Amino acid sequence: MMAAVYAAENGIHPLLIEKNEKAGKKIYITGKGRCNLTNACGLNEFLANVPVNPRFLYSALHLLSPDDMMAWMERWGCPVKVERGRRVFPVSDKASDVTKTLQSALNFYSVPTMLHHTADKLVMENGKITGVMMTDGIVLSAKAVLIATGGISYPATGSTGDGYRLAAQAGHTVIPPQPALVPLETKETWCAGLMGLSLENVRLSAICKGKKIYDELGEMLFTHFGISGPLVLELSCHLRGIKLSDLQVFIDLKPGLSEKQTEDRLLRELTAGGAKQIKTILETMLPRRLAEIFPSLCDVPAEKTASQISSEERKRITDHLKGLPLTILRTRSAEEAIITSGGVDVRQVNPSTMASRLVPNLFFAGEVLDVNAHTGGYNLQIAFSTGALAGLSAAQLILS
Ligand SMILES: Cc1cc2nc3c(=O)[nH]c(=O)nc-3n(C[C@H](O)[C@H](O)[C@H](O)COP(=O)(O)OP(=O)(O)OC[C@H]3O[C@@H](n4cnc5c(N)ncnc54)[C@H](O)[C@@H]3O)c2cc1C
Repeated sequence: MMAAVYAAENGIHPLLIEKNEKAGKKIYITGKGRCNLTNACGLNEFLANVPVNPRFLYSALHLLSPDDMMAWMERWGCPVKVERGRRVFPVSDKASDVTKTLQSALNFYSVPTMLHHTADKLVMENGKITGVMMTDGIVLSAKAVLIATGGISYPATGSTGDGYRLAAQAGHTVIPPQPALVPLETKETWCAGLMGLSLENVRLSAICKGKKIYDELGEMLFTHFGISGPLVLELSCHLRGIKLSDLQVFIDLKPGLSEKQTEDRLLRELTAGGAKQIKTILETMLPRRLAEIFPSLCDVPAEKTASQISSEERKRITDHLKGLPLTILRTRSAEEAIITSGGVDVRQVNPSTMASRLVPNLFFAGEVLDVNAHTGGYNLQIAFSTGALAGLSAAQLILS
């Protein structure tokens, strides 16, 4: 939608093809229905939140930065506000207002949208694109084609990976798409017993073959299949190219205390606890539900009293408080993933224009590209900025 607005604003007559009954359907479910449309941070912080191919975005973010995006929304009649973590939302708290705003801009420039139509094939002649064929056989001729079909996550919103097939048809390499910003399934079945328990202020770290690939403080959640919540979703963005069987994940339940301080604290609680059961002692240090099962996780009989805990057992409890180990079996499926990792290889796309390096009149924008970011409004901003640059560049090509 943003690409079509920029193309029209720059003097050409784009046609938007959309398989759904309306354009921008995914936006309705973003930000829990409130749409966290961007992040009001500076360029460096923005790029630090893009684990895959951040440098590809310089030109796009230069053309349409988060500040520009906020101003753009206001200009088109949708006031925005900045919340915790510089996350930007419409003042109305309604994601539908973001879709409506994009649609108003399209209406202003009289951009037609062909709804209920699915682009099936690129029509090519002598290495250039001459049009697009729909699944119903209609062929539309075009001077340029822009693929902004999204990834494979939440396919019910229309993003079913069609763009990967279209890109491959034009000779593009597609990095295998995988779910990202997605919950993780664990081998440990005790997680299911803690379903709904949220841990605030813990440190989640992940090690692959001795190398730390993730280490952050924050919040996470136990679910019926394993783990979820902000830290876990973010960790899932860092699993690219990693064999899950090589991955070791740890929860530091006492990130504010060193190992020694944790052991000293436990010793104090045990000394004061005397005849109390170990799980009761642990309730002073952990949420009650976790404290109840914690002795068994540390291989300590739950019925033991504080005074019966041996120094080896105390050490095991300390080790688990500072690094509760988890084994990740798999990510949840694309149906539950907020974004897709992988996509059109950015080495074959010009970052200054979003044009294909293989086919001169083919452009890409948004999640179909192999770029992805953490939660916080970054992914939509990437879609808006790459869309703006691709739309502008397509207009310039056609008018040149
Ligand atoms: C639950 C959820 C919450 C999210 N929350 C946020 C958030 O708050 N902030 C944030 O920054 N990001 C969020 N995201 C991610 C964000 O929504 C996406 O990164 C963004 O929508 C990608 O934009 P896009 O235009 O590239 O693709 P999409 O939004 O997926 O749009 C692609 C469009 O192309 C259409 N299409 C696909 N194939 C064809 C075809 N062959 N022919 C015709 N039309 C086709 C689809 O129907 C769709 O309308 C969230 C995602 C999910 C799933």
